[in-house]
Amino acid sequence: MILRFLITCWMIGPLLPLQLVFTALPTASTSFRQAGVPNSAAPDPGNDRAWLSTASDGSERTPVEVTAQLFTLGAGAIPHPAQAALPRLRRPIPDRLVVLTFDDAPVTQAVFAAPILHKYKFGATFYICEFPPNFDDKTKYMSWEQVQHLDRLGFEIGNHTAFHTHVSRMSREQFHKSLAYIEDKCKIYGIRKPVTFAYPGYDARSKDLDVLTERGYLFARIGSERVYDPLSDNPLLVPGFNANGTDPGRVFDAMKQACDGKIVVLIFHGIPDYEHPWVTTPPQLFAQYMEFLHKNRYKVIAMRDLAKYIGPDAPEQDTPRGSALVGKQR
Ligand SMILES: [Zn+2]
Repeated sequence: MILRFLITCWMIGPLLPLQLVFTALPTASTSFRQAGVPNSAAPDPGNDRAWLSTASDGSERTPVEVTAQLFTLGAGAIPHPAQAALPRLRRPIPDRLVVLTFDDAPVTQAVFAAPILHKYKFGATFYICEFPPNFDDKTKYMSWEQVQHLDRLGFEIGNHTAFHTHVSRMSREQFHKSLAYIEDKCKIYGIRKPVTFAYPGYDARSKDLDVLTERGYLFARIGSERVYDPLSDNPLLVPGFNANGTDPGRVFDAMKQACDGKIVVLIFHGIPDYEHPWVTTPPQLFAQYMEFLHKNRYKVIAMRDLAKYIGPDAPEQDTPRGSALVGKQR
């Protein structure tokens, strides 16, 4: 019954967080949490068998396989193929590790946010698309020259599809073309090739997500409003917290969850957002957030920097047994 309810939610709501699925599926979620726990009763996280979870039918599945099953059931798609390899840590995840992401290329990201990020030497990823119908209006959106300048400053330019099309609405060929459009623009402007992706509308329902892997993408971000656990989350389904709105308490609470091996990924749009005001982050709040991260010595990175910590090809012995995993015991 619970599974049927969740499947229904998945089908009607592209924003349904996987967190809900994992926390509400008793057999799967419990096993996920246990999978990386290095206590005497739990499996060894360095052992591949440790990643297996027991499904309600008694079979064992990896987190990726359970995700695949949900995609299959919910989207009428073939199993989610994004990552056959299991995520492993290259090094321990430090406390206070935050990833900053900025979607849709509103001009205020370049003229207001970037100088503050640069002042604090923060890393960040700007997910670029040519948002219709007004991308050419440079009072609302960045120019490609401004995107180029962000790259020159050391920020990451990520792919958000050509025109903000949900991947569930694209064929495999269209998805390739949409990614290639932004990659080609980057090449024209001498911008480093994107290696991370953000799903427009946080909609990751597609049978063709392996297109990302084929094109060399390492990480991809959804919404979900929860922390990223690199030991159980698919790197092509990295959850993030929306940092828009006028409730700073919600954003500060999110930041404080960057501990015990978990990573907080924040999602910003315009600061403010002239085209889509409902996703605005007020400038004074944005400044407060960045000051908080700076004063409290957070390590603030771009999505691509996650590869320093996480990779399917990381040596098994690099998987930490120490403090980074302790917090998983709840
Ligand atoms: Zn977007």
